[in-house]
Amino acid sequence: ASFDDLDLSPVMRRALKKAGFEKPSPIQHALIPLALDGLDVIGQARTGTGKTAAFSIPILEQLDSLEDCRDPQAIIVVPTRELADQVGAEAARLAYGEPTEIAVLAGGKNITRQLRQLENGVQIVVGTPGRLHDHLQRKSLRTNKVWCVVLDEADRMLDIGFRPQIERILRNCPRDRQTLLLSATLPTTVRRLAESYMVEPEVIDC
Ligand code: AMP
Repeated sequence: ASFDDLDLSPVMRRALKKAGFEKPSPIQHALIPLALDGLDVIGQARTGTGKTAAFSIPILEQLDSLEDCRDPQAIIVVPTRELADQVGAEAARLAYGEPTEIAVLAGGKNITRQLRQLENGVQIVVGTPGRLHDHLQRKSLRTNKVWCVVLDEADRMLDIGFRPQIERILRNCPRDRQTLLLSATLPTTVRRLAESYMVEPEVIDC
């Protein structure tokens, strides 16, 4: 497998080279084409499989510039603050060469700074369910331009008890969006969430 098979932009190819990614991991090879086609996808993948780049690459490839859209276009929901920082950093690294506004909205962090960042215009939001929910309540997080929602480590988020916040986020986003769900395991709780909020998802297991 090669990144050449994936029909990526020259800017993205350069970013991948810069990051030292030589070839796609199995989850990247499977997920990127489906995501670029706009399909909903359930990816069974653990940490260390390259899942972050697998969902970040198609988002970055399809992003409108900040001049064209100042409201968030993609929301990536993750279970912990640490993971939010990691995903934000990985997405920023893969955005190399294109100015890209990414906001990490995690709990325990200064909300004033987050409010200012959202006010200034953001393309991608990475956040924890509680803090994202908080921003929805405050109406500081606008969701009408969101075309992709990623639920990363969905099984872990449901185990923690974030189902109500996740549902609130999904219900707030446009119906015709794309939903990508990543999970190490696919218990009934995760399948039920997918049945309610995803449209004919493709299932890949890497
Ligand atoms: P993740 O599973 O997303 O936490 O990624 C695990 C690690 O693998 C991260 O440090 C990534 O930067 C790295 N990584 C992801 N995709 C690739 C790739 N295609 N080639 C080399 N390293 C990668």
